[in-house]
Amino acid sequence: MTDQFAAAARALAATDRGVVSLTGAGVSLASGIPTFRSDDGLWNRYDPVEYGHIEAFKRDPEKVWRMLFDLDEILEQARPNAAHRAIAELEQLGVVTHVLTQNADGLHQRAGSTHVVELHGSNRTLVCLTCDHRRTREEVRGTLTARTAPRCTTCEEVLKPDAVFFGEPLPRQALRDAHDAVERCSTLLVVGTSAEVYPVADLPQLARVAGATIVEVNPEPVLPADHRLAGPAEELLPQLVARIRDTEPHHEEPR
Ligand SMILES: [Zn+2]
Repeated sequence: MTDQFAAAARALAATDRGVVSLTGAGVSLASGIPTFRSDDGLWNRYDPVEYGHIEAFKRDPEKVWRMLFDLDEILEQARPNAAHRAIAELEQLGVVTHVLTQNADGLHQRAGSTHVVELHGSNRTLVCLTCDHRRTREEVRGTLTARTAPRCTTCEEVLKPDAVFFGEPLPRQALRDAHDAVERCSTLLVVGTSAEVYPVADLPQLARVAGATIVEVNPEPVLPADHRLAGPAEELLPQLVARIRDTEPHHEEPR
């Protein structure tokens, strides 16, 4: 275990082109955000076809907001955990250049990460599907607390969170930014995601083809990674950061 840690820390610290982190639901679990499909997840209480699909929202947005109010309560109580803070610290140390995340909870930004690419959109803003007008979640906070569907100030339509629904394409600019980042990085640090769903599943492969080293941190590692650390992100990442702080940056240790 110690050797794996040391090897992973060296792969992260000894990079000239920087590290890109790809994160998923596993990073936010310790913040009290269950994955949608887990036993205590929202898809256990709400049929994803009736509540998570873009056509369902277009058909009856007020109905879909019944699920979204529950999601909002979860998000409102969530705080960044040690995994988010460790990734933010890696950016401050000059190690991580970009965070590519499948999470729409905004917790990376709240922990201090500044270069965050939100591959599945964001719950921090809401969009009008009719006129494209946007409002922040904070602007409609009172409406959400009263469990009334927030509306567009321009055309009165019910607003939709900017997070990607089933049946919606991923944000194109975010995908382009993600591709650019992984093609340029020295190391891809995959955390809390099995990266099985396309198009995100392409990113580790793209990084590998571009010559990057892959470090995976997952409870049960599944990727063809160079270094695999098995365990929860909020425990392993702070230990990894501690190692990296002790490692001379940008130089391989002579052995
Ligand atoms: Zn509108």
